[in-house]
Amino acid sequence: MMIETNSPEETYEEGFRIGKSAQAGQIYCIKGDLGVGKTVFTKGFAAGLGITETISSPTFTIVNEYHEGRLSLYHFDVYRISDSDEMYEIGCEEYFFGDGVCLIEWAELIKDILPENVVWITIEKELEKGMDYRKINIDEERKVS
Ligand code: ADP
Ligand code: MG
Repeated sequence: MMIETNSPEETYEEGFRIGKSAQAGQIYCIKGDLGVGKTVFTKGFAAGLGITETISSPTFTIVNEYHEGRLSLYHFDVYRISDSDEMYEIGCEEYFFGDGVCLIEWAELIKDILPENVVWITIEKELEKGMDYRKINIDEERKVS
């Protein structure tokens, strides 16, 4: 599924819509360059889960937890991770296979350790369509083993 937005508010709304329908155990992997809108999307997603707390990128902690909404949210930003071992050190499996929802910014950097069924959300700019234009692709990945 492909969605186009023309403002941060529209990207937030899209996040909200997906957060509202998120189910326990789902893992949302967000992909896209710096400043593309991953955190804007995440803020909407958190609001859609019923979280009113301010969401900020977990730059130094890798993961922030929010337990106030309909489901627990584990918000990862793995941009500064040097290798996947660091993910195991913070106990990523407890999060991945728990009852909450995981949302991972820069998930492409830890592709090798992601579980099989995740939802990929790719956000891209297209500068010829304007500074505020974003293309958001949502793909459910179901690997068959
Ligand atoms: P990231 O987390 O991907 O590094 P942020 O979400 O922190 O990026 O920042 C995105 C920036 O782009 C914000 O300053 C936001 O206002 C701006 N922006 C402009 N247009 C859009 C849009 N359509 N969707 C999302 N963000 C947008
Ligand atoms: Mg961010």
